[in-house]
Amino acid sequence: MEISKLKLSGFKSFVEPSTVHIEPGLTGVVGPNGCGKSNLLEAIRWVMGENSPKSMRSGGMEDVIFAGTQSRPQRDFAEVVLNGADDDGDEMEVVRRIERGAGSAYRLNGRDVRAKDVALIFADAATGAHSPALVSQGKIAQVIAARPTERRQMLEEAAGIAGLHVRRRDAESKLRQTETNLERLEDIMAGLDSQIASLRRQAKQAERYRKLSDEIKTAEARLVFARWRDAAAAAEEAKKAAAAAEAKVNETQKAADEAQKAQRSAAEALAEAREEQADRRDDASAHGHRMAALSTQLEAAEQRLADLDRQKARLEADKGDADRLTRDAAEALSKLERGLAESEKALSTDEERRPALERAQEQAERDSRTAELALAKA
Ligand code: ATP
Repeated sequence: MEISKLKLSGFKSFVEPSTVHIEPGLTGVVGPNGCGKSNLLEAIRWVMGENSPKSMRSGGMEDVIFAGTQSRPQRDFAEVVLNGADDDGDEMEVVRRIERGAGSAYRLNGRDVRAKDVALIFADAATGAHSPALVSQGKIAQVIAARPTERRQMLEEAAGIAGLHVRRRDAESKLRQTETNLERLEDIMAGLDSQIASLRRQAKQAERYRKLSDEIKTAEARLVFARWRDAAAAAEEAKKAAAAAEAKVNETQKAADEAQKAQRSAAEALAEAREEQADRRDDASAHGHRMAALSTQLEAAEQRLADLDRQKARLEADKGDADRLTRDAAEALSKLERGLAESEKALSTDEERRPALERAQEQAERDSRTAELALAKA
């Protein structure tokens, strides 16, 4: 693998985004103590997937984020971008970013990937965070003092088989998973055996059911045929009945036509009768009015009659009175007649006496005149 560019941002002392171009050939980094040379190497190891804060000279992994100085505030994230080409010459870009409280995230050529994928890529390229190709301060003494197993690890990494180990571990874990699955499968198979026995029983029942179904189908077919035969005979009968019914319908139709004619004439007669009825109704209404008037008149006449009855009673009472008066008058008349007769008698008597009286009167008148003359003379 060839690394061509390293870009750091907020990583340890590289607070501002800084890009280091690594040209072909030998590249040296020089600078005073504490200027950040080792931080560059650690940035390469970090982006390759280093997970031990100790090997990053930190207490925790978030310590790689710029912690701030007296004049600058701390940063919330650190990011390292490594550009390079793999053994096939294909360009690749690996990004690792850490944020306070959120942990690390990796991207490979713009895609989000797992830390394991990144470690595998660098292991396949015979490099990586723990590769002996990256020799940090004190590492030489560490190699000299290393145990055989650690030396073997270094040699394997140098030989480029570290990736194979990672893959072997993956394969072993997959194998263990598969073995567990197989055990579960055997349990399931044991359960399936009893299910198979039950299914065989069910299959026998299904076979019996199928035979019975066939027999039922045959019986049903026979039944359907018998019904069809009966139905055909019934249909024939029905056809005859239909023909008879048709004739009856024709007759009935004729009758219905005649009935319709009769109905029409009846309707006309009914219309006339209705008109007549309307006239009668008008007449009846007029008669009703007249009746009402006559009733009123009758009532008035009855009242009048009652009045006349009352008058008659009064008159009869008056007549009684008049009769009494008449009788009294007759009596008075007879009395008067008697008186008259007596008076006539007296009159005739007086008439008889009249000439004498007239003579006496004439004598009295002469005596009176004589007396008056005598008086006048006196
Ligand atoms: P030497 O030549 O002595 O080995 P060096 O050039 O390798 O020094 P480094 O060890 O890479 O220097 O850098 C150390 C510097 O990085 C120190 O000044 C330290 O303050 C600074 N540093 C480390 N971690 C952080 C951090 N999280 N935030 C800010 N500065 C940091």
